[in-house]
Amino acid sequence: MSRRILIVDDVATNRIVLKVRLSEAHYDVVQARDAAGAITAARRDRPDLILMDMTLPDMDGTELCRRLKAHPETAGIPLIVVTGACSTETKMRALEAGADEFLSKPLDEMILLARVRNLLRARETAEELALRNGTHRALGFAEATEGFMPPARVALIAATPRKALALRGALAPRISDTLSAMTRAEALTPPADAPAPDLFVIDAELSPDGAGLRLVSELRANANTRNAAILVVVPDGAPQTAAMALDLGANDLIATPVAPEELAIRIRTQLRRKQQADRLRATLEDGLRLAVIDPLTGLFNRRYALPHLARIAERAAETGRGYAVMLLDLDRFKRVNDRYGHAAGDAVLVEVARRVKDSLRPVDLVARIGGEEFLVALPETGFEQACATAERLRTLIEQRPVTLPGGAGEIGVTISVGLAFGRDKTPAAGSADVEAEINALMEQADRALYGAKASGRNTVEISRSAA
Ligand code: GH3
Ligand code: MG
Ligand code: MG
Repeated sequence: MSRRILIVDDVATNRIVLKVRLSEAHYDVVQARDAAGAITAARRDRPDLILMDMTLPDMDGTELCRRLKAHPETAGIPLIVVTGACSTETKMRALEAGADEFLSKPLDEMILLARVRNLLRARETAEELALRNGTHRALGFAEATEGFMPPARVALIAATPRKALALRGALAPRISDTLSAMTRAEALTPPADAPAPDLFVIDAELSPDGAGLRLVSELRANANTRNAAILVVVPDGAPQTAAMALDLGANDLIATPVAPEELAIRIRTQLRRKQQADRLRATLEDGLRLAVIDPLTGLFNRRYALPHLARIAERAAETGRGYAVMLLDLDRFKRVNDRYGHAAGDAVLVEVARRVKDSLRPVDLVARIGGEEFLVALPETGFEQACATAERLRTLIEQRPVTLPGGAGEIGVTISVGLAFGRDKTPAAGSADVEAEINALMEQADRALYGAKASGRNTVEISRSAA
């Protein structure tokens, strides 16, 4: 679907020229001739970007920026302001009012299109994060909160140390974040214990030739710095460099000679956006983690365990080394609840989970797959070793009663275990086969568990169909 751009200009020929250029680049163009028309069109047509003239018949351009940014329906739309008179003061006012970029007439087509692509890309990322987060909210996960934000880390990479220090000196009184001058090499190989910078200011004219732009794509390719904001200082009158920097992944540009006030505003805007995105990402990761962890015991839940078991089965097929699956169930657990209360029952579950987890290898999987039922998977484990492990777990629970918190006494509990073995000679299987295999295995373990219960509990039963 082509992206929609709203052009706001009171001069018809200006609108026509822009419309032709943007249509050629396959954008869908809508137009407005004054601020009132722009506000209506922005709400009605839902443009993905607005390109607006600074001088409008019914309202100052800065005021229009402010109104668009103040309304929730239009606040997220990127704004490019176009102007003839390019005084630094007007520029600052527009940026402060929420404009994302400022282009002066005559417009350079290459820069215009690179800027449009860049802002549309940023908007897509923001939208995608918001959307995925919305899905998580719908599933009941917590909303991103506007918590305390520590000062950000800003890295300055200039052609010479002297230039970097001058830049730092000019920014220091205007910015409360941590500023550090560094070389290109330091930016690419940060010390392992230091957190990566949130924002890089990069001089496009690093030596050797092209090193500045290359650094932009190198930072984007690096996992540690992929989500950092990048602001490139480009020589005035070098549209090719500017356009390329944007296409390589720079978030924003500033032309030389650098006005410190403008640079400070641009840094603040980029940091604000990055922090918003970081917050959304963190909520998402939390949500994903919560989705696979059992809150009571901290063990993985069934949703995580089954796909993980499938991976263990696939790996076994590749290596030819077998694996074992156990189902553990607390004996007569209902009585514990009945006699000591649900809270005591919970404490027993937590303690049993801890003992089992602590006595296994890190590669082993332990999951709580039912109320008082646990799954243990032992990759690359032979028959003897698995039987010994099952017996060890059974003893571990039986031999020492669980101490209830707050001096509420002790409860002796036992577990029954059903043990089954994965085939170790399977040729590389397709995913349907793997699923069938683990289903069959779980069933065998379940039958063995049932057998253990039937033969009096507190015992290990090995599946008859075992290897
Ligand atoms: P069996 O030896 O046959 O396994 O007997 P049982 O009582 O353990 O088995 P049953 O399946 O009849 O009961 C399981 C009990 O586990 C029922 C429920 O009260 C308890 N339970 C399940 N989940 C939780 C939980 O999260 N916390 C607590 N405290 N109890 C739970
Ligand atoms: Mg039970
Ligand atoms: Mg049970």
